Amino acid sequence: MAQQFGSFTASELYCPKCRRSQPVRERLLLVLPTGELHDLVCSRCATSLGKRTVSAPAVAPVRARSRAARPAPGRGLLR
Ligand SMILES: [Zn+2]
Repeated sequence: MAQQFGSFTASELYCPKCRRSQPVRERLLLVLPTGELHDLVCSRCATSLGKRTVSAPAVAPVRARSRAARPAPGRGLLR
């Protein structure tokens, strides 16, 4: 019988070590400019079963660093 894990969002992959499909856990491997590279590992024996690239919409576009100490407006920038 197939068990359903409603709250478990991770997918299952076939694990050659366990010789059966296992729920996978995601480990953050790398943070790329285009997103995050996750490592999919077997939740039972921690064998790497694959990789997944997750685009990160939360990442804000690169913006220039504004100086922490800004001159007071109207002073220091007079021409
Ligand atoms: Zn396994």
